[in-house]
Amino acid sequence: MNKIKVYNSLTQKLEEFIPWDPPRVKMYCCGPTVYDLLHVGNFRGAVFYNFLRNFLEHEGYEVTFVYNFTDVDDKIINRARSESVTSEQISQRFIEEFWRDFNQLKLRPHSANPRVTDTIPEIINFVEGLIQKGMAYVTSDGDVYFAISQFPEYGKLSHRRVEELETGVRIEVNEKKRNPLDFALWKSSSGDEPRWKSPWGEGRPGWHIECSAMIHKHLGAPIDIHGGGMDLIFPHHENEIAQSEGLLAKPFVKYWVHNNLIQLKGSKMSKSLGNIITARDFFNQYHPEIYKFMVLSVHYRSVLDLGDEAIARSIRLLSKIYSALAWAEEVLHSQQADKDEHKQNQEFAALSHQTWQAVLEAGRHDFNSALMISHGYELIKSFNQKYRRGMKIHHEMISASRVLLDFYKKLGNLLSLFLEPPSQFLKNLDDHLLQEMGLNRQDIQNKVDRRSQLRKERRFQEADLLRSELNGCGIQVHDLPDGTSYWEVDKST
Ligand SMILES: [Zn+2]
Repeated sequence: MNKIKVYNSLTQKLEEFIPWDPPRVKMYCCGPTVYDLLHVGNFRGAVFYNFLRNFLEHEGYEVTFVYNFTDVDDKIINRARSESVTSEQISQRFIEEFWRDFNQLKLRPHSANPRVTDTIPEIINFVEGLIQKGMAYVTSDGDVYFAISQFPEYGKLSHRRVEELETGVRIEVNEKKRNPLDFALWKSSSGDEPRWKSPWGEGRPGWHIECSAMIHKHLGAPIDIHGGGMDLIFPHHENEIAQSEGLLAKPFVKYWVHNNLIQLKGSKMSKSLGNIITARDFFNQYHPEIYKFMVLSVHYRSVLDLGDEAIARSIRLLSKIYSALAWAEEVLHSQQADKDEHKQNQEFAALSHQTWQAVLEAGRHDFNSALMISHGYELIKSFNQKYRRGMKIHHEMISASRVLLDFYKKLGNLLSLFLEPPSQFLKNLDDHLLQEMGLNRQDIQNKVDRRSQLRKERRFQEADLLRSELNGCGIQVHDLPDGTSYWEVDKST
């Protein structure tokens, strides 16, 4: 197998990826707490870890990928109260809403999607094991806390000493805890809170224990990759390590992989203003493909900008790619292609092969999807230089078109991107660009039709004037061999 390098948050180093039991890879990623629609940044992980898994499988690994739902949580309880319904109704509703968004992204299904409510016996066993080992304690009112003093390595993932963590983090005042950093494994429930019977009275699990118990149940520790957003490193993942390694006295995760968060530069959205955009709104306003493209165009450890300017820039780039793909497809559907002898364009095939090697190289270096996409884009540029729309279709162009489409199919399968029907999707992208340029599709079409009419009447001077006018506002017109004309938004700038 080829060497893959991955950045491990635990060691803060790039390490060679060697799973515990190759070719098998056990991978877990923290899924959403289901109390609301997900925010536009929340799907970054879903898109990135889907790619990470695709890439590992391409490299010959067999990946089991578990992605959970946190369906027991105070936020769920609060929402249920405000709507006078049960917690179960809230979590069920937002799991369904999650799937509506997730399915739009056309990512691969996970190997399993466990829920906390299906994992209660395992959670109780886990907590009991920790109490028996003296790593957790029960309070007089039936809460159970993990005693971080019993886990000397506490802080090893966030790379901070316990004293630093104590001062650096806002900690709720709670007299029942022996140490302010001790965290709840089990909370007693009262009133309308969801509850299960346990050796410590009726209650519900704390957040951190859920993920650990689901990992043990569905994958078995140790696992190879644990993923999640950087905001989960402390306390969530730190606590997962403490409780899992506390119980098992062996390593829990080999590679901790964390994706960075998002920013909305140049946009007016902010949490304090309460106008954070949901993924649902983003997908409706733009397209899930544009979202995926933006996520994967940035290395997963860098901040992702989803602001208005970044969106506009991405649409333009994506539209250049789809424009070339749409043209390549038209070339292959042309009459000339029917008669073609399928002789290979050696030069373009060699370039594509070389580019593909560079793509794989980028993936093997810490899953650099951004570099993969930019290598792919170089191939588009080379194609456009020689075989642009409007040029005469000939054998070399036909072969290059075939090579380009094959390349993008392979790249698309790795990234779960570039798989939309090109001409149809290009139209969608053009609509966004037209809107940005303040142009109207119907007006342009009318002008292009008028120009075709002028050409038919052999009034070429007037036709040329109209063409210049269209070019001037950023529209390219291509005359096709059958006498009709085709227009698109100019992508050359
Ligand atoms: Zn988790």
